[in-house]
Amino acid sequence: MDQPKCIFCSIVEGELPSTNIYSDDHCIAFNDINPVANVHVLVIPREHITYLTETTKRYEKLLGHLMRVAAKVAEQLGTAEDGYRVTVNQGVNAGQIVDHLHLHVLGGEQLNSL
Ligand code: 5GP
Ligand code: ZN
Repeated sequence: MDQPKCIFCSIVEGELPSTNIYSDDHCIAFNDINPVANVHVLVIPREHITYLTETTKRYEKLLGHLMRVAAKVAEQLGTAEDGYRVTVNQGVNAGQIVDHLHLHVLGGEQLNSL
């Protein structure tokens, strides 16, 4: 039987709704459905990449782009000056629940220290 479709691929393809914050040819950014901070945006590549650890050298440009978009989103949402956090959860121990690479952009309030 076919694998169930990746929810983030469904968001990329417009089959699932999301609050669009940013979009370009390589990635999109949208609000997290279950925010843990006043600003909680996910930046995801349009291409389905499951894990950070599976990225090879050819992904360096895309990964750099995702980080720059995270910074742009923080600026756009007014949390750049006061500070924000960019996080990738990789695998089970980090609590990765969606198997499509994504950056969390967290801000808009004082965050707990790591
Ligand atoms: P992870 O733990 O995998 O790094 O985080 C996945 C994030 O995706 C979680 O913060 C969760 O709230 C968010 N999420 C899961 N499903 C959806 C969805 O359908 N729409 C949106 N906007 N966010 C989702
Ligand atoms: Zn996907």
